[in-house]
Amino acid sequence: MQAQAIYGQEKAQSDLLNFYQSGHLPHAILMLGKEGSGGLPLAISFAQFLLCEQKGAQAEACGQCAACLKTKALVHPDLHFTFPSFPPKPGVKTNSKNFIREFREFFTKHPYGSVTDWLESIGAKDRQSGNISAEECKEMIETLSLKAMEGAYKIQIVWRPEYLGKEGNILLKLIEEPPSNTIFLLVAEQTDSVLETILSRTQLVRLQPMADEAIREILQNVYQVSEQDAARAAVLSEGNVAHALTVLQENESDWLQLIKDWFNGVFTYNGNLIGKWVDQVSKLPTVQLKNFLMYAQQLLGHTLRMSMIPGYQPALSAADAQFVQKLATRQFNYQTINQMDNLIGTAVYHVERNANAKVVLLHLSVAMQYALKGTKLSA
Ligand SMILES: [Zn+2]
Repeated sequence: MQAQAIYGQEKAQSDLLNFYQSGHLPHAILMLGKEGSGGLPLAISFAQFLLCEQKGAQAEACGQCAACLKTKALVHPDLHFTFPSFPPKPGVKTNSKNFIREFREFFTKHPYGSVTDWLESIGAKDRQSGNISAEECKEMIETLSLKAMEGAYKIQIVWRPEYLGKEGNILLKLIEEPPSNTIFLLVAEQTDSVLETILSRTQLVRLQPMADEAIREILQNVYQVSEQDAARAAVLSEGNVAHALTVLQENESDWLQLIKDWFNGVFTYNGNLIGKWVDQVSKLPTVQLKNFLMYAQQLLGHTLRMSMIPGYQPALSAADAQFVQKLATRQFNYQTINQMDNLIGTAVYHVERNANAKVVLLHLSVAMQYALKGTKLSA
């Protein structure tokens, strides 16, 4: 469908292509996917496909024609963008046009960025929330009533219609009966905050939850993250590329070494080692500590699969994979690993609720020793 790569959204891509090929392209499509799953890149790549002047037999944008180049640079005159923003200075009304240059730059650098990332990049102060104004909605009606400048379509992308609020009602008639060859692509993360009246006038296309593998590819190919960092951040991403990038910024310490120290203390029942480890790890900020524990869970999961599935290849960095391989030779049974996984899960729960980190980690380490012995530590 597109010349630039889209990762992990094969189903949504084929839904969109089917609309086009069936000859019944809906004039308003709502692309729904959680933060960091690539709704905006998908909408732009579909716009590129629609506007491409030399669509190939493979139903793909050519990537070379003038229209493709303009779309990729987000400067095609028939491609319009609306996104959350705020007044750039007192007395000026909120309008995406005020920030279109910044938006092009932001998307080029950070195509999977969240609205928070976007608003921060244009200098939003203290969680200043963006919105899409009534003026902008009225302007949209005017712009789209004009003839297409160059392309066969006029395309209006609305990034996060949740930010329209009740102003969205201004657009109802436009969305229901748009001028000819006008396509609305609305990119949303949750339908709860989109006006019911808008929802009912759009064709829904659901994005899939992002698999770790797709996130790893995006981090490496789109963000030029090293293979090792990409593998580590992907498993902690919770299906969100923007979150994976945050994890990378936070994760400066060598977690693998910390996990080695910890397991070493636990497996050898060495209270001294555990004590030192608890002191060190309890100093991590809460979010990092939670991520660290979740990473330990991931490594245990890979260990279990490695000891049960012949030829299993974990999607991990070389160093992490080597560690997992070594750990798997200890021949843990399913129950032991499952129990350790549950214990870490409980610790994450307590850490998230700001329990004393030292107490949580010490209790966790002792409980894991009991799990190894095949007994339970009573809480
Ligand atoms: Zn083209």
